[in-house]
Amino acid sequence: MTLIDYVQTLSDNPYFGAGFGLFGLGAGAALLRKGMQAGMIFFRRHYMITLEVPCRDKSYQWLLQWITHKGAKETQHLSVETSFEQKETGHIKTRYDFIPSIGTHFIRYNGNWIRVERTREQQSLDIQMGIPWETVQLTAFGRDKTIYFNILEEARQMALKEYEGKTIMYTAMGSEWRQFGHPRKRRPLDSVILDTDIAERILNDCHEFIENPLWYSDRGIPYRRGYLLYGPPGCGKSSFITALAGELERGICVLNLSERGLTDDRLNHLLAVAPQQTIILLEDIDAAFMSREESKEMKSAYDGLNRVTFSGLLNCLDGVASTEARILFMTTNYLERLDPALVRPGRVDVKEYIGWCSARQVEQMFLRFYRNIDNKSNELAKEFTESVMSQKRNVSPAQIQGYFMFHKNNPADVLKNVSHIWDVT
Ligand code: ADP
Repeated sequence: MTLIDYVQTLSDNPYFGAGFGLFGLGAGAALLRKGMQAGMIFFRRHYMITLEVPCRDKSYQWLLQWITHKGAKETQHLSVETSFEQKETGHIKTRYDFIPSIGTHFIRYNGNWIRVERTREQQSLDIQMGIPWETVQLTAFGRDKTIYFNILEEARQMALKEYEGKTIMYTAMGSEWRQFGHPRKRRPLDSVILDTDIAERILNDCHEFIENPLWYSDRGIPYRRGYLLYGPPGCGKSSFITALAGELERGICVLNLSERGLTDDRLNHLLAVAPQQTIILLEDIDAAFMSREESKEMKSAYDGLNRVTFSGLLNCLDGVASTEARILFMTTNYLERLDPALVRPGRVDVKEYIGWCSARQVEQMFLRFYRNIDNKSNELAKEFTESVMSQKRNVSPAQIQGYFMFHKNNPADVLKNVSHIWDVT
């Protein structure tokens, strides 16, 4: 029997013929599936456009809010994010924001349908933030990337609007900056009463710095400016920096150098990745280390502790660079404890003493506190100031403020127990 005859006989067999048919059908279906998969891949590659935003990206939170705002509201699968909001009156209100839950949602944007897929990895954590790794993926028809530029820009604008008139504080978490608490209502600059024209001088200097990037780039000088505010505690160093940040419409990144676990490398990284439009504040800079001579003696005591070294700090300060104006504030209660190398120009460009209250400050604090309560407040303010100054003792604005708090609505009482000011610690 030839081979052709053999095949002919097999196909004439009804059982074998049916198997052959089934095999053919199965192969056909597999081929079709493969073809469809390839078609989908081709279609996705050429006619769909996707954007993946991981939770580490700055725009992640904005985007979630935007998606909710845009209409994912209509989806029935939401998760809640609770936040606290400070009203004009200072009252704090709880706010619930619904954001799209993990899963798939659809929204409509400028006539396009967009598929939103929010995913959370069960196995992997974001090491720096200690939260599960999440991503949002947007998929739309078409090939035009501008749709995503527009969405991200809209989301950013929406987030900025939320923060209008507010100051955002950041603290360091691992090697990242994280928003600390809710955005606070801006503190007006004139609510911090400093002597003569200190506030104005610093503000003008900041403006001049921000407005002249070319001066720095022309000379190849890093575009940063360091300020040191020194003086006794409770005189308004931190309050002034907060108010100044508000005035300059910037946030504040606060860092305490004596924090355990803050190494030179981490500090360097943090200074490099500080969010844009912020002021960096290194508080109580004297507490972190002693002058170089002292630290040589104490070296053994410090060995083994994970702390910033003095030379590490100097390197970090010298390395602070940014394309935008980088403003760095440092505060200390003890200027004399600082090593001269730290306060040389380039590291500290402006040094200002924020000291005990002058007569003018006492009077202004009185007027600011009681101006709407008593129509004789001008005379009372003068009398109060004379009485405080006649005690011939150093007094801080924090002490005066604390004392006023005991006589909130009765300025005349304030005059009776002036010596009690120093009971306020
Ligand atoms: P410092 O940073 O110098 O230790 P703070 O700014 O922390 O002082 O001030 C402590 C408190 O005293 C704050 O509640 C602040 O409102 C008040 N205070 C301090 N200085 C002033 C000032 N010059 N004007 C108004 N309030 C002040």
